[in-house]
Amino acid sequence: MPYSASPSRYDKMEYRRSGRSGLKLPAISLGLWQNFGGTRDYPSALEILAYAFDKGITHFDLANNYGPPPGSSEELFGQMMQHDFKPYRDEMIISSKAGYEMWPGPYGEFGSRKYLIASCDQSLQRCNVEYFDIFYSHRFDPDTPLEETMGALASLYHQGKALYVGVSSYPREQTIEAHRILQEMGVPLTIHQPSYSILNRWIEDDGTLDALGELGVGCIAFSPLAQGVLSGKYSKGKGENTRAAEKSSSVAGSHLEMGVLDAADRLNEIAKSRGQSLVQLALAWALRREEMTSALIGVRTLEQLKDNLGALDNLELSDEEIAAIDKASEG
Ligand code: NDP
Repeated sequence: MPYSASPSRYDKMEYRRSGRSGLKLPAISLGLWQNFGGTRDYPSALEILAYAFDKGITHFDLANNYGPPPGSSEELFGQMMQHDFKPYRDEMIISSKAGYEMWPGPYGEFGSRKYLIASCDQSLQRCNVEYFDIFYSHRFDPDTPLEETMGALASLYHQGKALYVGVSSYPREQTIEAHRILQEMGVPLTIHQPSYSILNRWIEDDGTLDALGELGVGCIAFSPLAQGVLSGKYSKGKGENTRAAEKSSSVAGSHLEMGVLDAADRLNEIAKSRGQSLVQLALAWALRREEMTSALIGVRTLEQLKDNLGALDNLELSDEEIAAIDKASEG
């Protein structure tokens, strides 16, 4: 029996406007970076994504290289599109990106027009969709003129292959420049996708978040749980079946040092005083500023997703709580 969506799917989720655009995203969005690759079986992937959609998570985030192996997350998502989600395509915001290494040779990464256009076409095929709702330049390319990278996004936009375009991990100056170049081409920069969490505040430090607010560009934070460090689970060691325990783990060593783990324990006490789990506090924090459109999480299990969705029960943080979080997260 194909999936049938819950009639109550829009009852609880909060939707936030991306900058000054017409696009609204759920406060919590789901990414398929590491947990939906080649080793994930279809039924368990569908169970998680279907639960997410039933709870109002309308936005699923992908990229050409997500897996492992690269491409496998888009392929798995493409199967879901074909077999279960097709009737709901117009209720979904599906995004992909190009920027990191995808195929060998000089045209398989970074920001050339050659790479972005070819990669978007490949991603559309793998995902079994005719267009992406959002297509991103995944990283700034210092060796390609920004006019060329933005020109490729503008072409995808004008061809209808991307309804909205965005940049990911672009620093402040390049973000402002990308916005200007796109504007001259008649294309709005709708969204920025940076890393952002209690433990990683670079978009506040370099003024990117302020600039996004001024430009009217939305912001979706990736790794708002610092890849699981902000669950507090690493205080007890790496354990099994965790991202940090994986062979070529993407969890930064600096995030597993005693100082950070102690900070997570202190933050956990603040969460408890609010009747929340630490992940729920971390999500409320990531969403506290008005420039923020969505917090983009990853989950390995359905239980994690349920825990994270509990954040919606209390997103309000007082000035005192924000100050206490600042203090607790200092080394
Ligand atoms: P998170 O910070 O949400 O980390 C996800 C990991 O945290 C999970 O795999 C799980 O780790 C752990 N976790 C999640 N919920 C819980 C919980 N309730 N209790 C305990 N542990 C939990 O985000 P990601 O780093 O996964 O990034 C999210 C998405 O952002 C990606 O899927 C992708 O779409 C996007 N992204 C974009 C990037 C870019 O360059 N634009 C780069 C990275 C991500 P475990 O596996 O240990 O169980």
